[in-house]
Amino acid sequence: MRIDLRSDTLTRPTPEMLLAMQEAKVGDDVYEEDPTVNLLQERLAQMFGVEAALFCPSGTMTNQIAIKALTQPQDEVICYKQAHIYKYEGGGLAFNAQLSVKLIDKQDGILKPQDIISCINPDDIHYPTTRLVALENTANRGGGAYYRLQEDIIPIRHLCNEHQLFLHLDGARLWNALAVTNEKPEDYGKTFDSISVCFSKSLGCPVGSALLGSKALIKRGKRLRKVLGGGWRQAGFLAAAVLYALDNHRERLEEDHQRAAILAEALRQKSYVKYVMPAPTNIVIFQMENTEIAQKLVNYLQSHNCWIGKISEDSCRMVTHLDFTDLMLESLLVILHQFNP
Ligand SMILES: *Cc1c(COP(=O)(O)O)cnc(C)c1O
Repeated sequence: MRIDLRSDTLTRPTPEMLLAMQEAKVGDDVYEEDPTVNLLQERLAQMFGVEAALFCPSGTMTNQIAIKALTQPQDEVICYKQAHIYKYEGGGLAFNAQLSVKLIDKQDGILKPQDIISCINPDDIHYPTTRLVALENTANRGGGAYYRLQEDIIPIRHLCNEHQLFLHLDGARLWNALAVTNEKPEDYGKTFDSISVCFSKSLGCPVGSALLGSKALIKRGKRLRKVLGGGWRQAGFLAAAVLYALDNHRERLEEDHQRAAILAEALRQKSYVKYVMPAPTNIVIFQMENTEIAQKLVNYLQSHNCWIGKISEDSCRMVTHLDFTDLMLESLLVILHQFNP
């Protein structure tokens, strides 16, 4: 039995999802003639209470399109130091949008208004123009920490309004956050200028993300998606997987969170683990006593056909997902118990 917790992108479509894909009605989406893509986009727009949605190949592309659409070259973006848009998108902020960034160092990745205020540049020609604040919910490198809309995000929205800044959400794992907080997607739609959500992570789709926002944003976004090579054709096969996942894979996310909590608790008991980050959703990040033990653990687990991620010299990551069952959890707990560094 292979257990792969390196990422929640590693899931395979279920037989039911494959059937839904196979039965999809499709057309050419560059001509805007794919009925299943159109249906998905309408459904997402309605769900988030926004004017329009754009189905895209990846979360990276969706973030990059949103950020490019909302900024001018020479502007500056505020985000956290380990944000996906900054750290894991190949320098796209510079390459695609010619932006500079102001980074905020937060262990859990959850920004507060006071963190952001001090990053806003004065209107002075020496400085780039602060244009955009980008939040990540849940925060990947923050161990899956989540924002609460009323307490955490609304004050940031007010701050952005005061300073005429746009607010973007990298919601690659927004589904996980919503599963915990029970907040409504439409409240998110009202709050952000642009939202990116992924379907290829916790919802278990093979491919796909979406950009959500105003008609003007989506119109510009479609042009940007094209120039990035993301104008796709019979994408309805992929949209069908997303429609299936929205109906069938959202309610089960709580299971992933419970399994992650059990793993985090088990790791906290191990003498070789120095620190386990709080794991409120589906990501468990933990630091080992030293780099040697970290590598030993990864190798040991691999020898038992268990795969986890190493995110720094001494830290590892496990991400729970649709293809990680209770049986696998039990087996992994036994294997971890037998590790002797
Ligand atoms: C995975 C991820 C993305 C996008 O990833 P793609 O692989 O490009 O779909 C964006 N933001 C965060 C926080 C992510 O974890």
